[in-house]
Amino acid sequence: MSDSAAAWEAIVDAVAAGGVTVLSGAGLSTESGIPDYRTAAGERRIQPMTAAELLATAEARQRYWARSYVGWPRFAAARPNIGHEAVAQLQRAGLVDTIITQNVDGLHQQAGAHDVIELHGNLDRVVCKACGQHFPRSLIDACFEVLNPDFNRSADAALRPDGDVALDEEQVRTFRMAHCPACGSDLLKPDVVMFGESVPRDLVQQCFDAVENSRSLLVLGSSLAVMSGYRFVRRAAAHDIPVLAITHGWTRGDAELTAKLDAPLGPSLAELVRAVGAPISA
Ligand SMILES: [Zn+2]
Repeated sequence: MSDSAAAWEAIVDAVAAGGVTVLSGAGLSTESGIPDYRTAAGERRIQPMTAAELLATAEARQRYWARSYVGWPRFAAARPNIGHEAVAQLQRAGLVDTIITQNVDGLHQQAGAHDVIELHGNLDRVVCKACGQHFPRSLIDACFEVLNPDFNRSADAALRPDGDVALDEEQVRTFRMAHCPACGSDLLKPDVVMFGESVPRDLVQQCFDAVENSRSLLVLGSSLAVMSGYRFVRRAAAHDIPVLAITHGWTRGDAELTAKLDAPLGPSLAELVRAVGAPISA
């Protein structure tokens, strides 16, 4: 039997046994049009802005929000793909319990999944770092729209993994920054864990609990390059809980993985639903 046939069999057996915790990464959402952070070889495609940079200067916030403003309609228009649908279906069939996701796109929930732990937050919320209030992204977006009626939002630059697009400095300089609707500060930050920030401790503990209580951990579309996700793989391995992965290319966790299938996510997950005999529902 080939390695991939053996990996597939191990994955089917683990999921059919139930008690699965899913850990999903950017690779699950690429089929929805949201690009991945890394190439298949594990190289980083972009150097994301850090939270420290964002909060340091008004210019950095202007740059961040101008790019994000142009990218947002496209990011928000992304819909769950067949992979998200399959995970939700496995959950409805009682085989998947908790879903830990590194993605900030809300696509698991849109596909009907529940018990989703958003490890890195969600781009559809904004937090004011001056007063601590949270706002729906749609509200802040409407503020930007009022302030920037002539700003060209239909740039044809490609959407980037953070949900923004590259803009030239000249265009960035014309962007008018919105202020917090509650306190008037311009310290607005997407309610996501940015590069250089840590995941809140209680959320990490919730994930450790889920992993330790599961029969297996299924990694979907993550290179496990960042510790925020990799630590759950290590925790599972330390508890002799099998770790299975369907992902594309290099992963940092290869040593801990019980089985790894290098294959496209959507079609593989749809096949997995069929293989474990989960009822197909609309
Ligand atoms: Zn505020």
